[in-house]
Amino acid sequence: MSSSHKTLKNRGPRTNIVHSGRHPDENHGFVNPPVYHASTIFYPSYEALQDKNARYVYGRRGTPTMEALEEAVSALEGGYGAKICPSGLSAITTMLLSFLKAGDHLLVTDSTYRPTRSFCDHVLKGLGIETTYYDPLIGGDIASLFKDNTKLVYTESPGSQTMEVQDIPAIAEAAHARGILVSTDNTWSGGHYFKAFEHGCDISVQAGTKYIVGHSDAMLGTITVSEDHWERLDRYWQLIGSCAGPDDIYLGQRGLRTLDVRLERHMKNTMEIASWLTERAEVAHVMYPALPSDPGHEIWKRDYTGASGLFSFVLKPVAEEAVAAFFNALEFFGMGYSWGGYESLAVPFDPTSYRTATEWPHEGAGVRLHIGLEDTDDLKADLDRAFGALKAST
Ligand SMILES: *Cc1c(COP(=O)(O)O)cnc(C)c1O
Repeated sequence: MSSSHKTLKNRGPRTNIVHSGRHPDENHGFVNPPVYHASTIFYPSYEALQDKNARYVYGRRGTPTMEALEEAVSALEGGYGAKICPSGLSAITTMLLSFLKAGDHLLVTDSTYRPTRSFCDHVLKGLGIETTYYDPLIGGDIASLFKDNTKLVYTESPGSQTMEVQDIPAIAEAAHARGILVSTDNTWSGGHYFKAFEHGCDISVQAGTKYIVGHSDAMLGTITVSEDHWERLDRYWQLIGSCAGPDDIYLGQRGLRTLDVRLERHMKNTMEIASWLTERAEVAHVMYPALPSDPGHEIWKRDYTGASGLFSFVLKPVAEEAVAAFFNALEFFGMGYSWGGYESLAVPFDPTSYRTATEWPHEGAGVRLHIGLEDTDDLKADLDRAFGALKAST
């Protein structure tokens, strides 16, 4: 039903971001698509009601507002078609429920977003779908984990919190040789800096909540697929019924238009802060693939056209009170979950409590930062003040 596949292929990624999914000619010339609030859609006749090919049938199943974002996201990711869900997690779960069935085996990176892991460990397990977690750096050796019933490899790069860059082309080559599907959580790149389909993925999901919305004011998820998987996704998305609200969808399409310039500034600011942190005596380790010292830098340089504003670092071991003093001293960095908005954020993390396939080698506390669009001098001064508070309490 989506008209995503009509998107022109031969234009630049920034032109796509600006133009895809908007049809001013169909909307009295208005630059932005209208917001349709809808459940019931009237049919003009009994015959029209019986027509199974009607373009719009019911609010949950598709509106022009939804189609506008589907088309824009599909063009952004370079897929064939996209579906919109009410959160990033619902996009992930809808995708997994669409492509897996009882008796299937699933491979998930050990570095995945934690709620994805919980869904596999509880909901999928209960449905008779088995998950094996793998080392994010496994590359083509993923083949050693394939079973006869392996159906899908789930990647996420860089890893949530720990930032490992995966060799997705090598994973995809091994998987496709066995007819296994490859999906990725492409949230970190916004679908802009990593073209999942050009690098072998069949499915790309995003928490649209992050960079697509971009302003911390709405929740959305996106699922984009290549042509072979479009029919299945379209059908199962409808069967599952996870549809997002029209105003949030509108905010998603509005945020998307400035994705390129926002990400460019996020990267510039983040490079500056991440490099600065590598020089700090209080810091043991900085994880940002755009830094030449990062172990994932070579693959990042090969596969990505940019880096976004989310990265992590590890403090040298100190007492928890000192870690608390660091966080409590921050003024411009808000403490809170999610990321991808215009503002800077900081949260502590500890991957040791839930990883199963890999060992976290660091001793100190983990800090995840999202670098926003503020003046970097102010952000550095803020961090400097927080390091001062950390030292004062040790
Ligand atoms: C936030 C996030 C999600 C979940 O998105 P929500 O919109 O919060 O449900 C999924 N994957 C990654 C990598 C995320 O950071």
